Amino acid sequence: MSKSIISILVADNSSPSIDIIKSTLGNDDIKYKIDTAISGTDALNKASDNAFDLLLVDQDLPGAKGIKMVQEIIKRKLGVPVIMIVAEGKEKLGVKAMDQGAYDYLTKGEVKTVALNRAIQRVMQRKKLENDIRDSFKRLEKLAIRDGLTGLYNHSHFREVLRKEFKKSQRHIQQLSCLMIDLDHFKSVNDNYGHQFGDFVLAQSAGILKKLVRDTDFVARYGGEEFFAILPNTDLEGAFILAERIRMVFMNNSITKDKISETVTISVGISSTSDNNIISDEDLIANADKALYRAKWRGRNNVCFFGEIESEDTVSLKEEAKKMEEFYSRFNTINENIKETCIESAHDILCEIESGWAYINEHSVRVSRYAEKLSRELALSEEEINVIKRAALLHDIGMVGIGSNILKKKDKLTDTEYNQIKRHSNIGVKLIERTKLFQKELPLILHHHERYDGSGYPYGLKGDTIPYGARIIAIAEAYDVMRSKTAYKKANSADDTIAELKVCAGTQFDSRMVNAFVRVIEKVI
Ligand code: GH3
Ligand code: MG
Ligand code: MG
Repeated sequence: MSKSIISILVADNSSPSIDIIKSTLGNDDIKYKIDTAISGTDALNKASDNAFDLLLVDQDLPGAKGIKMVQEIIKRKLGVPVIMIVAEGKEKLGVKAMDQGAYDYLTKGEVKTVALNRAIQRVMQRKKLENDIRDSFKRLEKLAIRDGLTGLYNHSHFREVLRKEFKKSQRHIQQLSCLMIDLDHFKSVNDNYGHQFGDFVLAQSAGILKKLVRDTDFVARYGGEEFFAILPNTDLEGAFILAERIRMVFMNNSITKDKISETVTISVGISSTSDNNIISDEDLIANADKALYRAKWRGRNNVCFFGEIESEDTVSLKEEAKKMEEFYSRFNTINENIKETCIESAHDILCEIESGWAYINEHSVRVSRYAEKLSRELALSEEEINVIKRAALLHDIGMVGIGSNILKKKDKLTDTEYNQIKRHSNIGVKLIERTKLFQKELPLILHHHERYDGSGYPYGLKGDTIPYGARIIAIAEAYDVMRSKTAYKKANSADDTIAELKVCAGTQFDSRMVNAFVRVIEKVI
């Protein structure tokens, strides 16, 4: 037992009996701290005012008989265990007391023996067990309503709170407003910096929201990167002010972890019981969702309330959406073509300004082909494959910033020269970033020399935190380099290259991808 001193209240109006108990317990003030009460009322008052570990109650107590006291203790929820003391031959009263909630009973004769110490130990153990169970229940209850990543209320608890708050607002004729908050372009945050940083952003965002709302508001994680704030007793104007405040805090601050720092903006949709179509709590969600959609449509980093859109003609909205969809789909095709032309032109320019470029160009084309095959084997979407193909074509573009003497050197590179070469990932990103055309390709170019075990460069990223496409390009590039002849090495055979990739699976490369790549190459051989 963790507690060494057990505080006991002995309720007995006969001092000889109290003395017997004291002497049985050995007058040991280290183990027991004994207080006394000489009547039922006195005992109840003391038990209410102090935190005793145990009550030893004589059944024949004046004021309130022992059994009455047990009932009263339960009624007042004092939570203190009771051992009843009954006269010899009155054991039935002890059993009755236990029926009413006493933990145990002893006869006056037993009180003089070690049976008393044993009974106390048993009761203390039972009480501790009960406390442990109660704590576990509390923990479970908390887990059941909280989201593990952010600590906010989870979706199902949010629905329950909204239902209750909606009813309350109807009963008291008070305004209730809601904010649906969605992180903008969050997919890119994951793509650029990995899911671990993405998760960190979610947890930080939850912290920001909790800090900005009132104690009486509820904030929940609605879904992946969507949050929902329930604002009781708040009108539309109040909700708008809060939403704008939250939007500004996100916009003006960046979220930083280790070497990564990123500003994440949000879009917010507001609904309120003052919206004229609100019949149930579900309508509050639907309205906030529509308003959020409109805030995104306006370009993101934006707050919109339902009233702003409800008057708009829904027919024209549908038509508008259809036209926009057609525009984007056609524009997307043009965009893909522009990017392709752009990469070709970049290589043409580089061939003119860097005489060693033709070799890098041929290598990049081959890497792009291998990367495409591996991506198909891994069942990626056409859109993802196109990004990987382009990133592979551009992956070594940063070599243009490295001295020609190093690029053309026929002998093995010195450590200093190799360190120069390593800068090409960062230089490549700097070059491409300025074009604003290849945002999705950037992280793949930056991280194509990371290694699965964290020993690569430029950031030493590890495992699945390395962007998926960068892991694909790493294998495609390694294969091409090993298969190519250079000034100081012969070309490896396909079999030897495959064997080498397998050796490095799990350390340098993602082993699942190596397995897929082996399947691709074996189909060709
Ligand atoms: P929009 O501005 O239109 O909201 O763009 P978006 O990229 O934020 O939206 P989209 O719905 O395309 O992508 C949401 C992303 O959120 C995709 C998903 O991988 C990510 N996500 C959802 N839940 C989690 C999570 O628990 N952790 C991490 N890291 N990412 C998550
Ligand atoms: Mg989003
Ligand atoms: Mg979303």
